[in-house]
Amino acid sequence: MTINDADVPALTIARIERQLAGGELTSLELTRACLARVEAIEPRVGAFLTVLADDALTQADAADAARGDGARGPLLGVPLALKDNLCTTGRPTTCASKILADFRPPYDATAVARLRRAGAVFLGKTNLDEFAMGSSCENSGFHPTANPWDLARVPGGSSGGSAAAVAAEMCPGALGSDTGGSIRQPAALCGVVGLKPTYGLVSRYGLVAFASSLDQIGPFARTVEDAAILLEAIAGHDPLDSTSAPIEPPAFRRSLGRPVAGLRIGLPKEYFIPGVVPEVESAVRAAVEALAAQGAEVIELSLPHTDYATAVYYLCATAEASSNLARYDGAQYGYRTPATRNIIEMFTRTRTEGFGAEVKRRIMLGTYALSAGFYDAYYLKALKVRTLVRRDFERAFEQVDVIATPTSPTPAFKAGEKTADPLQMYLSDIFTISANLAGLPGISLPCGFTAAGLPIGLQLIAPAFGEERMLQVAHAYEQSQEWWKRTPALAL
Ligand code: GLN
Repeated sequence: MTINDADVPALTIARIERQLAGGELTSLELTRACLARVEAIEPRVGAFLTVLADDALTQADAADAARGDGARGPLLGVPLALKDNLCTTGRPTTCASKILADFRPPYDATAVARLRRAGAVFLGKTNLDEFAMGSSCENSGFHPTANPWDLARVPGGSSGGSAAAVAAEMCPGALGSDTGGSIRQPAALCGVVGLKPTYGLVSRYGLVAFASSLDQIGPFARTVEDAAILLEAIAGHDPLDSTSAPIEPPAFRRSLGRPVAGLRIGLPKEYFIPGVVPEVESAVRAAVEALAAQGAEVIELSLPHTDYATAVYYLCATAEASSNLARYDGAQYGYRTPATRNIIEMFTRTRTEGFGAEVKRRIMLGTYALSAGFYDAYYLKALKVRTLVRRDFERAFEQVDVIATPTSPTPAFKAGEKTADPLQMYLSDIFTISANLAGLPGISLPCGFTAAGLPIGLQLIAPAFGEERMLQVAHAYEQSQEWWKRTPALAL
């Protein structure tokens, strides 16, 4: 069978798996169709920084050959996209920063290596806010990405390219990273599923560090099942990441389809506040009612330190970033200024020319928070409040199995709307940040659309290593609705 690129939208990873296994489809046909779709749509969306067409076709060919030799697996021959802060051997890994414009890592991130071993095909590297700092993809050092549902709006960020690529059906799945919401918020704004795993479940080896105590790699997909398939492939202990948990991850897909009757769902009152757009709040409440209709019990609760989460995050994340980004000095790798008279000038000019405005803002904020005389007042205080945020969740999970909230207080906003006011931009993550501070897993999945046709995301948060339960509830909701089947009307 030859598939037409118009068929790509109907394809989920689970369906591709069946079609490839049944011989109705080859990876080469599918990869060609995805690449054709990238070619047709990408000029309007701008989801990719690098399209790796030749690599992808070679990998697809190899996957088909391996299948012919008896190899199997849910991702064998499946085309995926990778956020461009995940290291890929010999291929550009820019973090959407001019300072890494020509960087080609000599190794794969562990998550990438695991997908490669599973036989996945890599279509390319997707756009992000520079070094994953942002909520709109407008901080990319190269170009912005448009939201496939409304090209005048942002896809969210920082993993906006991965979210947009999946939403525009250029590929059935992608990887992103989430430090304060960078998988879940763009998933919500683009109407796809995005999952941030428990801190330590997925190795961070080869993920270019932003804030090491918060960063996690996770999947984007069109369905909860597909997200579970991707998570299964990338999760698990890795000796190359000292913060990777020494556990054997369960087969996440197996929990799907179990009934949710009797499960307790918590609604934290701090997440249903006046700043939430009414259409978002009512869609999220309707989603919780749909779960209640399946027998789940809904319990109102409080996470009293929620108000401090954004401030704590912007101290911890910037402090860690200021330290992590010290390595970009022009001496070891990446951009080096051509005009240098001495080493101090080389460092200064390299960083001045190489980093964008938001990255510089974060480095300055973080350096300030860590500096002598301010450390106790800012960074240390933030760490203490971070513990209080975590305890809020520990207490809440004594009463409930999962917590349900809006993923983002608003649907996708207009490009340029928040660029002049960093604080407004930071507030777009108020509901996602706490899960990172507490190290907890979170998922965003579509739960409706605004009257203007913009997707709305439901966030579920679970206890640490509670991904199975979280996926079970997400799947039960998803399958009771038709939202996930909607696709943006991008003309082919
Ligand atoms: N938008 C948040 C920030 O700007 C979160 C980014 C992320 O999760 N990488 O820091």
